[in-house]
Amino acid sequence: MAQQRSLFDSDLRNMLKSGPRDRPLSRRHALFGATILAMIMLVATWLASRPDASIDEVDNSQVEYDPLRSQIAQVLNARKKTAVASSAALIPNKSVVPLGSSSASSADRGSGFEVDLWPAMKELPKVTVSVSLDTKAIHAVQPLSAAKMADSVPTQTVASSTKTNWVDIDIRPGDSLTRIFNRLKLDPAVAITIAAHRKGQVLTSLKTGPRLKIRLTDGQFRELEYEKSLKQLLLVKTTDNGLRFDTVNRSFEVIEQKATGVITSTLFDSGLKAGLSEPLLYKLMSTFEWQIDFNTDIRSGDQFAVIYEERFLEGRKIGTGPVLAASFILSGKPHHAIRHTDSAGIARYFSLDGTSMQGKFLHSPVRNSRITSGYSLRRFHPILKVWRPHRGLDFSGRNGNSVLSTADGKVVFVGRKGNYGKTVIIKHGSNYRTLYAHLSKYGKKVRKGRWVQQGQIIGYVGSTGLSTSPHLHYELWLNGKRRNPLKLKLPRATSVRQNEKSEFLRRASTFSAALNRLVDA
Ligand SMILES: [Zn+2]
Repeated sequence: MAQQRSLFDSDLRNMLKSGPRDRPLSRRHALFGATILAMIMLVATWLASRPDASIDEVDNSQVEYDPLRSQIAQVLNARKKTAVASSAALIPNKSVVPLGSSSASSADRGSGFEVDLWPAMKELPKVTVSVSLDTKAIHAVQPLSAAKMADSVPTQTVASSTKTNWVDIDIRPGDSLTRIFNRLKLDPAVAITIAAHRKGQVLTSLKTGPRLKIRLTDGQFRELEYEKSLKQLLLVKTTDNGLRFDTVNRSFEVIEQKATGVITSTLFDSGLKAGLSEPLLYKLMSTFEWQIDFNTDIRSGDQFAVIYEERFLEGRKIGTGPVLAASFILSGKPHHAIRHTDSAGIARYFSLDGTSMQGKFLHSPVRNSRITSGYSLRRFHPILKVWRPHRGLDFSGRNGNSVLSTADGKVVFVGRKGNYGKTVIIKHGSNYRTLYAHLSKYGKKVRKGRWVQQGQIIGYVGSTGLSTSPHLHYELWLNGKRRNPLKLKLPRATSVRQNEKSEFLRRASTFSAALNRLVDA
């Protein structure tokens, strides 16, 4: 970052995000005009919409220390002070409202299902709007009464502040508290003291994102608020007796939402129309990725139903997810997914009978076979008589032995393929593919675009292509690259454990009934 740039330069770049980054910025009065114009638009948008409606526009990545920004925060904070006082966002030492049993345990571990929760926090109204404006400009063009302004100012951000110099920090990868203190021109020794404290340990490895606020007075550190998790904040305050550490629980409300729809064009369009968010739709698609190819399997008229959670923090929606249960009815055929959190706190999706939605690979595509040639980057080729990589496994077999698909998936290729001879390629989920080569013939129902099940016969051992004798050449592709199937850590499909099964089946039938009602309604 160019340190020499004036504050105006960097501010303007924030406002004109889409413009060229290196726009020459020499005429300050023109910039000032642009600043005022942008500010008028901003205020107008702000008032015209719900307080939180335009927040999506805010680019949090730009949140950095900036004197102008804090000036604004100061002004806005002063105006909203009364409003804030009555709606404290933080409830110290109050226990968390119990979340649904399925999600409480996994919310903190970042199990993948909650990952959008923090980003969703960006929807929270922020007082420190990313566009920095000169406070004088605000007074100049702001015809609104202070009362109206106070109404329009979101009351969420910094409830515990009585002084106003809060700076929002967007923690970047590799950031440390010391580094952040340096950026704010604060004494790094304070950061070291804080992080060295027993209760400040959590600050030694910061999570990225807009999780940190620091309050300054006259360039001195006063206070910080770090979001340890969505549910807990760590507060560190300087007092006359030194540093004070407090952990604050935030109270949550989780409600169950339902959505259903008939797919007219794409799942995405219809899902958005039904009120589902983009992250939720992506989650939904990845849940079903081993069962449904959303590019090709969806027909107009297919239906979906979803039951999911929405989270509220002090009355404000802060995130959606996880999906608790979902169903797709494609060409009349139902597919269900039910979320289940096991006793270890790990949440996964299962079909109604408790089998995992995620695939698992068989070790061998040929029964009673052994590996005659392993995966190697340097192998002496028996026919070509040269050293070349062998990025697959050769399984022994006699001509005509069955070749089985190693996992559920969709056939994406059936045909001759150069040295591979007769070949079948199957796609599993969105990341995996398996390839079966030198086949003598293909399985009966194996056509491009058809779904196959794990263990289904997809062809027969042969010696077509560049091959000395009948065997199966098997490859496993991950994200477009061949990998050693014996070394690669493959997804483990686990069914619901026996001791959790009856409870799961009970929940699953409740959910499937609810989903059916949704679809029928
Ligand atoms: Zn081979």
